[in-house]
Amino acid sequence: MTEIFSGSFTQQEPIPEAGIEAALTVLRSGRLHRYNTALDEVAEVAQLETEFAAFLGARFCVAVASGGYAMGCALRAIGVQPGDDVLTNVFTLAPVPGAIAAVGAQPIFVGVTETLTIDLDDLEAKASKAKVLVLSHMRGHLCDMERLMQICDAAGITVIEDCAHTMGASWRGKASGTWGALGCFSTQTYKHINSGEGGFLVTDDPQIAARAVMLSGSYMLFDRHGAAPDPEQFADIKYTTPNVSGRMDNLRAAILRPQLADLETQAKRWNDRYRRLDLALRDTPGLTRIERPAEESFVGSSLQFLLLGWGDAAISEVVKRCAARGVELKWFGGAEPVGFTSRYDSWRYAESDSMPVSDRILRGILDIRLPLTFSFEDCDTIGRIIRAEVGAVFQAG
Ligand SMILES: *Cc1c(COP(=O)(O)O)cnc(C)c1O
Repeated sequence: MTEIFSGSFTQQEPIPEAGIEAALTVLRSGRLHRYNTALDEVAEVAQLETEFAAFLGARFCVAVASGGYAMGCALRAIGVQPGDDVLTNVFTLAPVPGAIAAVGAQPIFVGVTETLTIDLDDLEAKASKAKVLVLSHMRGHLCDMERLMQICDAAGITVIEDCAHTMGASWRGKASGTWGALGCFSTQTYKHINSGEGGFLVTDDPQIAARAVMLSGSYMLFDRHGAAPDPEQFADIKYTTPNVSGRMDNLRAAILRPQLADLETQAKRWNDRYRRLDLALRDTPGLTRIERPAEESFVGSSLQFLLLGWGDAAISEVVKRCAARGVELKWFGGAEPVGFTSRYDSWRYAESDSMPVSDRILRGILDIRLPLTFSFEDCDTIGRIIRAEVGAVFQAG
């Protein structure tokens, strides 16, 4: 009998009871806006910012409306102007070039390697082309962060990290999001903590943090922010920094705080599932697994593999056959953007030279989500199905 998988690739776990309780308390108070506090009350948002900064080992955190907003805010906070060029990964998700375009700047794409990280040789070659890099740790893969920072420091490039998939991850023990001048995180439903929508911007630089507080909308209430730099950091910028409202509210923060406290445990659970599936895919003919470097500590909330050198028709066939058996593979190389996958040439607002070396890799990337609602047995089943269908198409081709 053909084995069919019936689980849902988009079903996350419920919000912890403590989060639901805290959310009800906020709702009952009516004080959802972060600056709407009772005497001596520290808003849920400010408490979350303090806790998230401490969790990362960063000085400041500003909680905002989304991960995409955090990136746009980061670009504005370091002074990126319309017309500027900004380096970024060719393998990323649409909100990244979108954030660059939103401030009127243009992305210059940097290639991807077979380990699904930014191509540091290509970065070095393009380093003189821009003063800013939005580094997307796409699908949770961290590059050699020491070498990346050497390249960027030598070229005077400011690094903004897109940590949408690396909350809880680190390189050589240093948290993702603390290597560059700024780190941006998302708390959208499909990331590592879930408030529906939401995001964080983190930095050690008090001027950048002050600008982010002003940008995200403080109505000159920054001295009541609760987790902002000292008021003197605002003296020079408060008249010149526009209000581009995008704050987080207390309801979301209340939901997130217990999840942040659980993140390390959750990361282990994700990695147990990741290893289980990865093991099931070992030695599948035609399939290239992604080896994870020893320096990288990751959160395996999704798994990627490559069908390198395969034709489009054969890859489509694998996707179709797996789908027929209940296994949702996302193909990043498809010519048309589908769901959350899209390729750099589908972002037609951002012109790019063709990138044949990256194209070959992008064409072969397949992606699978691993929500924590999957059991180990689910991972085994998914592994068997992928293995069988990749094997069948590979042999036929
Ligand atoms: C989800 C995501 C973002 C942005 O997150 P939103 O909160 O949805 O704006 C940024 N980068 C990557 C790689 C993402 O997957």
